[in-house]
Amino acid sequence: MDHERINAALHEASDTRRVVIGAGAIDAVEATFTQCFENALAVVIADENTFAVAGQAIQQRLQAAGRALDPPIIFPRTPPLYADFENVLALEGRLRNFDSIAVVVGSGTLNDITKLASHRAGRQYMCVGTAASMDGYTAFGAAITKDGFKQTMACPAPRALLADLDVLAGAPSQMNATGYGDLLGKITAGADWALADALEIELIDPRAWPLVQDSLRDWTARPELLHAGDRQTIAHLFEGLIMAGVAMQISASSRPASGSEHRFSHLWEMQALGHGHPAVPHGFKVGIGSIAAAALYERLLTRDMRALDVDALCRAWPSRDAVERMVRQGHDIPQLAENAVAESLDKYITPVQLRARLTRIQERWPAIRAKLEAQLMTAGQLRELLGAAGCPTDPAAIGVDLARMRESYWLARTIRSRYTVLDLVNETGLLDVCVAELFEAGGYWERYAAV
Ligand SMILES: [Zn+2]
Repeated sequence: MDHERINAALHEASDTRRVVIGAGAIDAVEATFTQCFENALAVVIADENTFAVAGQAIQQRLQAAGRALDPPIIFPRTPPLYADFENVLALEGRLRNFDSIAVVVGSGTLNDITKLASHRAGRQYMCVGTAASMDGYTAFGAAITKDGFKQTMACPAPRALLADLDVLAGAPSQMNATGYGDLLGKITAGADWALADALEIELIDPRAWPLVQDSLRDWTARPELLHAGDRQTIAHLFEGLIMAGVAMQISASSRPASGSEHRFSHLWEMQALGHGHPAVPHGFKVGIGSIAAAALYERLLTRDMRALDVDALCRAWPSRDAVERMVRQGHDIPQLAENAVAESLDKYITPVQLRARLTRIQERWPAIRAKLEAQLMTAGQLRELLGAAGCPTDPAAIGVDLARMRESYWLARTIRSRYTVLDLVNETGLLDVCVAELFEAGGYWERYAAV
């Protein structure tokens, strides 16, 4: 765990002041709380699991130090808490009844709900992490589903984050694997950002990029040790997830940590929700999404962009109305379709703009290709790493059959205005041919996921 690096990154961050990570870090809860909130009242928020593994100890430490506390808010084990807007409103209402600062003990969902509810109630909060399961601890914004549509809602990261390595190491191994999938997804997220940067669509933030990308291969290099529960490897993973969160905080955007792989993941999550299918851990979907994106990049990188017929592509480019129609027809969940239409139209470009972009792609392709090749891993490499970490690598294992995987290659683009490789293959007219290659005999998905 490189505390110096984390603290240096925090200098640039707007929200988080203190990150305390280490064995026995729970003992530092009162001191950390005091540094950030002086003598404010505290309220511990947890679910039955996280209260048992750390929440109770946090409550006791604060009490023993003489801190005034409101009664803890403990969510039941079942039904599992979902990060939807109604739960945010309910918690916001409860927080408004008190004057206290939330100390949330938990990972993804609990943290996201408390982050947004605290912000809406007009106060800061503190987080006690319980698993190296995702990168949202120190991230700007909360991933919340509203009316069936998953979105990042703007709200500050916690003022303080505390994580006890004894607690992280005791988390179910599936949770560490989930965090690994989320972190490894930064490979394709970085490629997408480099692409958007090279085409001057969304420039790389030089403060955020190195925080995620400089050590990414190192943080993800030992998946088999992670799977075996090695504490140092878990700490390493956690550091990567924290740094990715800080990068998002510095950029006030999820761009440093989320590209096409997250579009696949969010699409599958919203489809499962809309169809009443069971939820799959975030990082598992991101992992398979990153395999899908990397396989697409492999097909793309075999292309010669000078061969593009720019005139024909501009003539065939759909109108805004046509895009709206296609996107609406493509989704079978009405609310998802509405939001996808809005996101797709938000990034719509005219045929004239398309011509300028295609010309730019052609001019800059040799440099872009070199950057992408340096950044990316192959789908096969990602698959091996994910498998060694204990993540599923077969889409069927997360409820996505090959027909749905194939369809996802175009639907995933529609749910967010952010520019990724999914847009590039669409604009260059290469989507259909690349996807056909992935699914034909000998293609990536035909070889590895045929069932
Ligand atoms: Zn993620």
